[in-house]
Amino acid sequence: MQAAVFLDRDGTLIEEIPYLHDPLRVKLVPNCVEALGLLRGAGFKLVLISNQSGVARGYFKRSDVDAVNGSLADLLSAGGERLDGMYYCPHHPDGDLPEIAIRCRCRKPGPKMIFQACRELGLEASRSYMVGNADVDVGAGNAAGCTSMLISGTAQADSNADWIGPDLLSAAHWILDR
Ligand SMILES: [Zn+2]
Repeated sequence: MQAAVFLDRDGTLIEEIPYLHDPLRVKLVPNCVEALGLLRGAGFKLVLISNQSGVARGYFKRSDVDAVNGSLADLLSAGGERLDGMYYCPHHPDGDLPEIAIRCRCRKPGPKMIFQACRELGLEASRSYMVGNADVDVGAGNAAGCTSMLISGTAQADSNADWIGPDLLSAAHWILDR
């Protein structure tokens, strides 16, 4: 069983654009490749865990999510990096599309995507980390038994995160220092 760093997508690995669905607008956050390289070098698997409720809301299709994720993978690959898995939840109870406008168990802060990744990739949640820029990331990490890490530009006194810091690279350094 390996340890992993589970990573949110929008605002964590790539620049935040609300309901992003254009693969040409994908831009890595600063030092993204360096941060992932440090974590991979330390033996962590790297797995994307993303809410994409824009699918249920009818803003874009699953194929658009795949295209954006493919663009992310291409940008990482150009820097010599990659992700070991990509999971996303297309659901939302307030959506327009009947079959996926549901109150699912995979949408963060639910832990189901993390547990699925653990099962499929042979990972141990209790030795792993969840890194994101929103409360739902912290909630999912805590629910799965991971160490939860919040990237935030502002003070978050009420967060349940185990770590709060300014960016992905400082998150990677904190993990490596443990
Ligand atoms: Zn879901």
